[in-house]
This record gives sequence, C-alpha cells and structure tokens, in this order.
Amino acid sequence: MMKFPAPDLIARFAEIVSPRHAITDPDLMGRYLVEWRDLFRGETPLVLRPGSVDEVAAILALANESGVVVVPQGGNTGLVGSQIPPPGSGEIILSLERLNRIRSIDPQGLSLVVEAGATLEAIHAAAEEADRLFPLTLASQGSCQIGGNIATNAGGTAVLSYGNARSLVLGLEVVLADGRIWNGLRRLGKDNSGYDLKQMFIGSEGTLGVITAAALKLFHRPRGQSVAFASVASPRDALALLGRAQSIAGFGLTGFELMIGKAMEFALRHIPGSRLPVGEPAPWYVLLEISSGLSEAEAMAAMERVLGEALEAEEVVDATLAASLTQSQDFWKLRHGLSEVQKHEGGSIKHDVSVPTGDMPAFLEEAISAVTEAFPGCRPAAFGHMGDGNIHFNVSQPVGADKEAYLAQWEAMNEVVHRVVLKYDGSVAAEHGVGRLKLDLIARTKPEVDLDLMRTLKAALDPKGTLNPNRVIRRT
Ligand SMILES: Cc1cc2nc3c(=O)[nH]c(=O)nc-3n(C[C@H](O)[C@H](O)[C@H](O)COP(=O)(O)OP(=O)(O)OC[C@H]3O[C@@H](n4cnc5c(N)ncnc54)[C@H](O)[C@@H]3O)c2cc1C
Repeated sequence: MMKFPAPDLIARFAEIVSPRHAITDPDLMGRYLVEWRDLFRGETPLVLRPGSVDEVAAILALANESGVVVVPQGGNTGLVGSQIPPPGSGEIILSLERLNRIRSIDPQGLSLVVEAGATLEAIHAAAEEADRLFPLTLASQGSCQIGGNIATNAGGTAVLSYGNARSLVLGLEVVLADGRIWNGLRRLGKDNSGYDLKQMFIGSEGTLGVITAAALKLFHRPRGQSVAFASVASPRDALALLGRAQSIAGFGLTGFELMIGKAMEFALRHIPGSRLPVGEPAPWYVLLEISSGLSEAEAMAAMERVLGEALEAEEVVDATLAASLTQSQDFWKLRHGLSEVQKHEGGSIKHDVSVPTGDMPAFLEEAISAVTEAFPGCRPAAFGHMGDGNIHFNVSQPVGADKEAYLAQWEAMNEVVHRVVLKYDGSVAAEHGVGRLKLDLIARTKPEVDLDLMRTLKAALDPKGTLNPNRVIRRT
C-alpha cells in the first residue's frame, strides 16, 4: 500500500543521506518536478541525493519496509513522465546526480565503468580523453545521465551503426527494491552462465531496480567523418538513398536522419543564424554521416560516391557536403534543434513510433494523409532515425489555433496515427518508453501474454510495489 511519509519517517530517510542532501523545501525542488516539455508537473515531500551505493540501498530498504514509494531520477529529460511523482502521491524522489564518478577506464579492453549519475556528455569527454568513443548520442546529452539512458534504453542518432543503449552495456550494478545490491558489473564480451539478468533492468524505466553503476563498451574513434545534407522528393527516395549508402559504407554509415520540410522550416525560423544547406526548400531532407576508421579522405570518398550515384539515379534532388567541421556541426545543429523549435510553433502532439524500415514510406504517406484529413490545418513535423524505422511523428497545431483546444485532441490524434502504426506491425512506444504517458495505450495494444509476463516480472522483483509503480505496467 502506498504511504504518504510522516515527518518522523522523512527524518529517517534524511538521516541516511545527511540532512543537507535531503530537500524538503518546495522552493528548491522545481528542477526535479517539471518535465522538459512541461507535460508533467509533479509534487513530492522529499528529494534524496545519496552519495554512495550503500546509501541508495539503505533508502530502498527503508522504503520497502515502510511502504513509501521511491521514484529514481537521473537528468529529468525523460519524455514520458516516469521520473515525476504525480501530485498528492507522496512518492519521494531518489536523485542519482551525486553518484557521478568515472570508476575506471580500460582503453585497450575498450570498456569504462561509471556511476549512474554521470551525464552522457561527461562520459563522452572521458572516452575522448582516452582517445576512444562512447557512441550514444542524444540532443539531451548535457543533462541526461547514463543511469537514465540505460533505464530508458535510449536510442538517438548513432543507433544505426552502434545500436541503442542496450547494446552498449557490458554489466550493471543495481539496487533492488528491497535494498539488496546486485553486483553484475562485469566487463565480459561473452557470458552464457545463465539468464542475462542485466537485460531485465535495461529499458525498465526504474520499475525493477535502481541502476547505480554500469560497465560500458567503448570503440576506437573514427579517424575521419563526412557529413552531407540532401533534399529528397519523398520518403521512398530517402529509403532508396539509405539502401545505397548502406551498401557503399556498410557499418560506416553512422547517421541517416529523415526530416520533413515543415520541421526544417521551423528550425530555420527559430534557430538563430541557421540557414538551409541546400539551394531550394524541399518536401523532405536527409542528413547523412559516414565515418571511417582510416581517414577523412576515405569517409569523404564514400560520401561522394553515395551522393554521385544517388543524384544520377534521381533519388536526391540536391545535396551539400560539409566542407569543414563547423559546417558538419551546423548541419547536425539543425537536426538536433528539431524538438526544441516545435515549442515555438504552439502545441505539438507527439507520436514516438516505429515500423519496419521498408514500410516507412507507406506509413508516412498514410499517417500524414490520415491526420491532415481528420485534423484540418494541422502541420505534421515528422523527423527521426529512418535507418532504425523510428520516426518522431510530431504534429504541430494549425497556425493561430488555440493551444489548449488543440492539445485536448491528443488522444484522438494518437488513435488515428497509432491505427496506421499497428497496421504495419509497428511500435507505439519506439524510443522514449512508456512511463505514465503511455501506460493505458500499452495495456490496450499489447497482447495479453506480453502484459502477463511483464506483470510477473514486476511482481517478482518488486512485490510490495514501492519502486516506481504504475509506470510501464499498471499494478493490478
Ligand atoms: C531534447 C531532448 C532530446 C531527446 N532525444 C532523445 C533521443 O534521441 N533518443 C532517446 O532515446 N531519448 C531522447 N530523449 C529522452 C531522454 O533524454 C532519454 O530518455 C534519457 O535517456 C533519459 O535520461 P535521464 O537521465 O534524463 O532520465 P530521467 O528522465 O531522469 O528518467 C527517465 C526514466 O529512467 C528512470 N531512471 C533514471 N535514472 C535511473 C537509474 N539510475 N536507475 C533506474 N532508473 C532510472 C526514471 O525513473 C525514469 O523512469 C530526449 C529528450 C530531450 C529533452
């Protein structure tokens, strides 16, 4: 049974971390309680900032014993509300931000062991200092933490070549709901000595355990990269371009991002100093990145060949190859800015979905015509990771419409888009997870056996329901 912690219980929790790392003053809690898109605003009697794994274990043990619900929180950049306690719930926040040390780095063995609260950007910097690469790349990397990345199985723009967070984890250290510490922090490339327990926690959104540290895979840094920005007439042409780029560059194709013209129009309007990299506005754009382990010249040659052949085959209307690092960064800045700029265009109804990559053109055609027919004047501003079949099918409000009235149609529009997603056997929660936002949607759209297995796992690892309950799967 969930419990609103009484003052004496709050004092016991505070004692574990020392009172200066226990926040009870609502004026100091703002940044833990507002979600980045402002879709969720929460409330909590207590934010705890433990400084060691033992403190995390003691907090979870006390919570389990006393029936208090704990919500693990990393950088608070999650987009489905699972890190935010609902108002009046009495749930307390366990922030991992002080557990942020790089414990060790092995450049030869290509691994790094890091505490959960380290930001993704800090991990990039540590890897770079050792002349290695940690490839996970998200626009939120300055704030999001590796524990949050693993708990959400984050994707981003480098999945095409390196996989999502799951494929970058060698081992984990996790505190279980009852306070026991599971030490699975191994750095093995192979281990078939039973169930691969770490996989349960990856993507579980803090509902099965609190990740306190991770052993991660590192890679050799590419010696050269080439970035290009191309305009294409349709997603069908983009798919043909993807196939061509993959056949020429293989795993060297490290980025392939599809962007609709409307999303780019927003970026050009709201990102100061930005300009369109190609001559004329087009219905769709693609950002390509090719990396080489040998040299920049090799990456450039592969990109030139991709674009040359694609122009000849008329898959590409126009293309610009970045001539400098600054220009490459400018191209990526346009892509990374696409979430942010939509905020300036009023309300935006989101669909983080995936379909098999080959079905992406048909899905986009159908979904765009379905929403524009059902919601006249709405502006589809879709963009995403075409190579992974994952598109952020965001739809901005009609120009001049009332934001609140538009957003009130959230579920109705979701219904229209998700019908098309399910027709293509796609996922309605492709990258950002389920959290609180998609709890009912998942319950409606997943087969009963899937839901039953998920409930079994939750009940086995958190029988008292004190760890982030009613996220991912509802308690029965
Ligand atoms: C501008 C922007 C761009 C983004 N781009 C992408 C993208 O390209 N790809 C993508 O996948 N996501 C993206 N996201 C979403 C978000 O950044 C990721 O989900 C990120 O992995 C969340 O990390 P966090 O540390 O902020 O976690 P939080 O938001 O704090 O938490 C997210 C979830 O993880 C749980 N959690 C956090 N830390 C731990 C821990 N140590 N142990 C157990 N559970 C934990 C929380 O309880 C919650 O359920 C983006 C977000 C923004 C704002």
